[in-house]
Amino acid sequence: MRIDIVTLFPELCDSFLSASILGRARAKNLFEAHCHQIRDYTTNKQKQTDDYPYGGGCGMVLYAQPIADCLRAVQRQCAEQGREKPHVVFLTAAGQPYNEETAKRLARYDAVTLVCGHYEGIDQRVIDAFGDEEISIGDYVLTGGELASLVVADSVLRLQPGVLAEEKGYQDESYWDGLLEYPQYTRPEVWEGRAVPPVLLTGDHQKIDAWRGAQSRTRTRLRRPDLYEQWCDTHPLTELPKWKRGENMRLVKTDDQWDQAARLFAEGRYAVCEKVSTALYLDTLTPENCRKELLQDRENGWAFYLHYTKNVVDGMVGVCHKTGRISHLFVTAESRGRGIGSKMLDFARKKLPEHPNPTLTVLDTNIRALALYRRMGWRPEGVEAVYDPQKQPGAAVFCRELILRYQG
Ligand code: SAM
Repeated sequence: MRIDIVTLFPELCDSFLSASILGRARAKNLFEAHCHQIRDYTTNKQKQTDDYPYGGGCGMVLYAQPIADCLRAVQRQCAEQGREKPHVVFLTAAGQPYNEETAKRLARYDAVTLVCGHYEGIDQRVIDAFGDEEISIGDYVLTGGELASLVVADSVLRLQPGVLAEEKGYQDESYWDGLLEYPQYTRPEVWEGRAVPPVLLTGDHQKIDAWRGAQSRTRTRLRRPDLYEQWCDTHPLTELPKWKRGENMRLVKTDDQWDQAARLFAEGRYAVCEKVSTALYLDTLTPENCRKELLQDRENGWAFYLHYTKNVVDGMVGVCHKTGRISHLFVTAESRGRGIGSKMLDFARKKLPEHPNPTLTVLDTNIRALALYRRMGWRPEGVEAVYDPQKQPGAAVFCRELILRYQG
């Protein structure tokens, strides 16, 4: 691959591309990089590269002519090398947001030319005439496009074969699969009282991979719910975890089971409402009140099931045959991460064969549950209720209860 950078500061860009990993790869001819001085292409005596903006306003604007001539020179050089016409990217604060997907796409071109603006920017006519795209590296304004072009060059060149020691090096990193990377640790095992997570010392690579995957998903869910939502949509749970020995579901029938269900319901609703409801409302979530509510629900056509692991109750779910609704899905904190929630949801859906597209509701603040539902084929259909602290005494935070429908 060949990268050209068109800039007022070619030395700055060149020194970056000559250092460290990229520098070594460049020395081995794993890619070609050329940094061009815009000033060298000026046709005026003073070698002036910019002028006042038409229409007034502060700052200066880069002329179209030297940039156009520089781009033509790059095109000629590429043609002489038998390369394709370079793909031209203008770095602008108003461009399309840059991400790993764009890096992967740009990495497939044989030649990419990055054009850096300065001052107030570049005469739009040269962008219109030569630009294949405009890219912004973030929602902030830099003094010049050099850092932006180096961000693009770095993220594209590291994807070129041989630049990183191992291909797995970049496949594991943040954003490769749409998720943020898991946390990394190196020696010593204990640093200032902080130990490395024990699983990483086991040598059991299956366990380590599972731990890293879970860390990646949790990090992304908490730090970048936007990315996580996209990831959920593109990674459906096609295979459910298998039921394990000692795990089973039982219909709530006995007095003791109603007590257990009420306790789990209270615990589950508390966990969901803790951050969005007032203390006054949370105080009402006693097992006694929840038991009354469950019994009332039973009168209205609901059936509840408890999940047992080796005879210990650690999850529940409810189904309503009348309405085709699923509710009260909850797994105790100790039993999470074993796929019990997804198995129970699948179980509940199959309990409603007369409703091929059942519904359930979930608070829009419950990102963990929303993610699971999305991955299992449930899609938002509407809003069941809005909880507004101005209007409802029990609401502490504005949130909505979404209706999701199973779409398969
Ligand atoms: N007047 C421009 C605006 O408001 O969008 C800002 C010009 S900026 C001071 C000068 C140059 O820095 C731009 O021409 C562009 O090349 C570069 N630049 C600034 N912020 C950038 C960003 N977020 N992404 C990419 N390039 C940026």
